[in-house]
Amino acid sequence: ASSAPTKPAGLDASKLKITLSQNLKPIPPPETLIFGQTTTDHMVFVEYDPVNGWSAPEIKPYGPLNLDPMSSCFQYCPNVFEGMKAYIGPDGKPRLFRPEMNMARMKRSADRVSLPVFDTEELLKIIKRFIEVEARWIPKAKGHSLYIRPTIIGTRASLGVGPSNHAILYVVVSPAGPYFKTGSRAVSLLAVTEHVRAWPGGTGGYKLSLNYAPTFMPQQAAAQKGYDQVLWILGEDKHVTEVGAMNFFVVVKRDDGDLDVLTPPLDGTILPGLTRDSVLKLTAAHPSRTSLPNLPNSLKLYPHEQLLTMSQIIEWSKQGRLLEAFGVGTAVVVVGVGKIGFEGQDIILPQHEGGLGPVSRALYERIVDIQEGKVEWEHWSVPC
Ligand code: PMP
Repeated sequence: ASSAPTKPAGLDASKLKITLSQNLKPIPPPETLIFGQTTTDHMVFVEYDPVNGWSAPEIKPYGPLNLDPMSSCFQYCPNVFEGMKAYIGPDGKPRLFRPEMNMARMKRSADRVSLPVFDTEELLKIIKRFIEVEARWIPKAKGHSLYIRPTIIGTRASLGVGPSNHAILYVVVSPAGPYFKTGSRAVSLLAVTEHVRAWPGGTGGYKLSLNYAPTFMPQQAAAQKGYDQVLWILGEDKHVTEVGAMNFFVVVKRDDGDLDVLTPPLDGTILPGLTRDSVLKLTAAHPSRTSLPNLPNSLKLYPHEQLLTMSQIIEWSKQGRLLEAFGVGTAVVVVGVGKIGFEGQDIILPQHEGGLGPVSRALYERIVDIQEGKVEWEHWSVPC
């Protein structure tokens, strides 16, 4: 009699095994933290193979991975990751910010490079348990957090070009201070047209590792010209897609004195950022459902997802209507833009103390307060 083939196991948080480190590391003083450099005591580790499916997830002491040199992650880059943060709430307990959005995005990314499917709710349960284990690593000061990097790599040990039917899912964390050490400041951008980050039909809308390495050389070239970050431009019409590894916004004064808050639409060339989505929802809610800090209730904000061409931005700047430009993302939350270099000229934005104009500052303050559990909004902050 032939036995029916067993189905490969799905990712299952109830099978989690926890092995605690016997050698806990000292916690470095928060002011010495450099983004992404500090490792903690533990990591999450799960393996997939096509016969057994996902292994029992483990939380185990942090350490190197053992990989076959032929693993496809080294060759064809079927690798995806997420960036999220844990914060300490007023109750002293760890919390996450809209984590189900990271999980959903990670699944879409994994599908895009044909990595094995996994249950996003199970992964979130594992991450929550992991954050409880590493809770002592979450810095308590305002603007500090524990950065979380869930990652899946293809580990099929073969040089054949094709999908990886083996994978490792791991999660590492790293304590992080505010993006800028000495208070915030506005960044300068160089609008780049000769290299593009993403293109129609490409993979810019997914968080794939392979999207990032090609941005390093243009970023270095911009830095050599004295600009902090690249403003990624695309198409004959020279429209803006993103800034560095952040989503891009401008604030434009309308004829009626209210403000348009504009960001490019999710047309497949833009990563659907959680911070971007949060900015759109918070601006839409001001002032009827929530008052953003230090913005008058008489001021209306009109969020729009619309194509932003460089010629339009220059026009608004000349008319004195370009009030603010800013980048948003998990690492930085909100960062102001002071100038944009484009075709040999600099577009200069209104300068503000600390680098953020009234709208971007209000958004920064409100988002951090929600993340840290000080302001409740739409259940965005989730206890572990
Ligand atoms: N764009 C790119 C290319 C990014 O890597 C990130 C960081 N994940 C973002 C935008 C911002 O996304 P989020 O707000 O989800 O961090």
